[in-house]
Amino acid sequence: MREQRTFCRICEAQCGLVVEVDDHERVVGVSPDREHPVSKGYACVKGTSLGDLHHDPDRVDHPMKRVGDRWERISWAQALSEIGARVRALRSAHGDRCIAHYTGNPTFFSFQNILWSASFLEALGSPNVFASHSIDVNNKFEVSRLLYGLPTVHPVIDLDRASFVMLLGSNPAVSQMSVIQAPDALGRLRAIEQRGGQVVLIDPRRTETARKVGEHVGIRPGTDAYLLLAMLHVIAHEDGADTTVLRGVASGVDDLLAAAVPWSPERVAEITGIDAVDIRRLARAYAVADGAALYVSTGVNMGPFGSVAYWIVQGLNLLTGNVDAAGGLLVPPGAFDTMALAKALGHGDPGDERTLVSSLPRVAGAFPVGALAEEITAEHPERIRALFVSAGNPVHSVPGGELDDAFGELDLLVCIDLYRSETGARADYVLPATDMLERSDFPVAWANLQPTPHAQWTPAVVAPIGDRRPEWEIFSDLAEACGSSLTGPTLCNALPRLNRLLARLPGDRRVTPDLLLAGLLRWGRTTTLAELRRHPEGVLLAPTEPGSFLGQRVPTDDGLVHLGPPELVGDLPRLEALAPSFAVEDGTLVLIGKRERRSHNSWMHNTPGIRQPSTNAVLVHPDDAAARGLGDGDAVDVVGGAGSVRLPVRITDDVVRGVVAVPHGWGHDGGGLGRADALGGGNINRAIPGGTAWLEPVSGQSIMLGHRVRVVPATRSITAERDDVAVDLP
Ligand code: SF4
Repeated sequence: MREQRTFCRICEAQCGLVVEVDDHERVVGVSPDREHPVSKGYACVKGTSLGDLHHDPDRVDHPMKRVGDRWERISWAQALSEIGARVRALRSAHGDRCIAHYTGNPTFFSFQNILWSASFLEALGSPNVFASHSIDVNNKFEVSRLLYGLPTVHPVIDLDRASFVMLLGSNPAVSQMSVIQAPDALGRLRAIEQRGGQVVLIDPRRTETARKVGEHVGIRPGTDAYLLLAMLHVIAHEDGADTTVLRGVASGVDDLLAAAVPWSPERVAEITGIDAVDIRRLARAYAVADGAALYVSTGVNMGPFGSVAYWIVQGLNLLTGNVDAAGGLLVPPGAFDTMALAKALGHGDPGDERTLVSSLPRVAGAFPVGALAEEITAEHPERIRALFVSAGNPVHSVPGGELDDAFGELDLLVCIDLYRSETGARADYVLPATDMLERSDFPVAWANLQPTPHAQWTPAVVAPIGDRRPEWEIFSDLAEACGSSLTGPTLCNALPRLNRLLARLPGDRRVTPDLLLAGLLRWGRTTTLAELRRHPEGVLLAPTEPGSFLGQRVPTDDGLVHLGPPELVGDLPRLEALAPSFAVEDGTLVLIGKRERRSHNSWMHNTPGIRQPSTNAVLVHPDDAAARGLGDGDAVDVVGGAGSVRLPVRITDDVVRGVVAVPHGWGHDGGGLGRADALGGGNINRAIPGGTAWLEPVSGQSIMLGHRVRVVPATRSITAERDDVAVDLP
């Protein structure tokens, strides 16, 4: 028996863990690491179930090939050779652009996946990368690029010193916080109250977090941007905030302030359902607090105005002097300069590439996944014909269901994953990747997102089971098999050949992810891989210096924050146009999502050690239930613009009247996730309209929340109801 320290990579918190491994390389226990300098013994059930994930009998352990209705186990050599031959033939017949790649959320929690998957298509000469971030966070990436010069720059709350924090569309008690690495976020919010500060949660639902901390303020779904504009109206136009300091570090200040002119608290009260008195009270409490922060998460990102909301959050945090200030928001430098690296890799420039049909640009290196179906089915010689999907399940996660049909038009679908998901069920090949206990790692994507700067590295805890392989090797070999060019700077086309040359020398001299990491850390000069090996619990880095970002490290070309980008200013008329629609009562309810502690997005439902509820449910306010003659537990059809889902009702006054809450990610039916399939439930994405008609225009984010739906007893015809659904968002 041995113990090995590592860290979880399911969500942003990346909590420290201690793994017990027996003499047969079986993981027999996973517990929170009390020695971890940041998580300090905190972890949730998902992290402590990683052993079950590792040994889950439903995992894909060998390359699998679909032969008719059967799945056949094949060797890696056969898989690479057959996939390579098919991709080469397609490229030769239709050009490089006919190859595409979709990367899912776990990509961003894997040092090697981030680097190698990004270079895979580059090595094949295709721009067709699609990513799951366009279904939950594209707004933040694009707004940060416009304001700060890079999609990855997001000032993070100085949680342990803040005295006022307002969270919109965020539920840390269940899902920690997004785009910030803050384990035990709930505990840290409670600590704010314990030291006399204030926590406010703006949400259409009294969330699990709101039950435990702070003041809950209910809001109509999709209207957070109006609330933020009204707060800016109060602070800038009613109270005349001093803009002198801001003008020294930012351009476009007048454009930001002008955006708020039309949105008085009285007007916004009609839209949001929040009283004007409360809007002024919250705005002023925030403005005068000594160390304050506004923060939005997926409940806002996935709505109709995610980009404007995030823009105004940044503007307010800057205007009130809270960015780059103790107790406000800081931009940590990281263990090495990831901003300089990102700039050098061209991440600040979306480039000229556009999708073929709707001419959409890339955001954070990827086209919007809402455009994927039409890029496959287009009548165009360069349409997508072969798709690689790594660490993702777009058939299940993307709204609208168009991908179901579109995938039937592909000549080749290859999935690289832990499981054969709903997407894998449609694949020609499923290739087994290692899980997080089977690979070394470093949380590179979060270097600038840590309220408590630290560095941690983990070796692989156990050897891979069966034929599971690390993703960097899979992508390198696939690129070569698919005919990557002989030259070029990408990891995928250069490394396989280099490593074959190095293999002729004595010893193991391959260029591996760890070797690259060692070089990057040496360049950063804050720690070394050797030190991280000696301290597997992680090491604290120097605290972020307030005043070290604005005017000094802002990675725009002129060093200023750009507060008036035309793209964002140009989206304001849409807010005007839609403002009257939010208070309309027409018998429909407004759909929101809901996070759950035991799952993460569309996965972790299959992990044997996690007891899931028997199914997912529809949360409805008692008044709305009574108006429809619904009793608790009744089956209902949730009918949206794309279709319907049948689920049981749960009646609760946790949701505000007029709102219906349904969690995403349920309703598995692919056949490869035996336990998840048996749980039943329904996939709400089948009711939500998808495609390019439902993209938030600034960022290409799929609008997944705020749609109007009908909730009807399951005995009634859903077809008739579907025809008169009012779908009135942009
Ligand atoms: S909160 Fe849970 S899922 Fe997230 S990193 Fe920690 S243990 Fe993993």
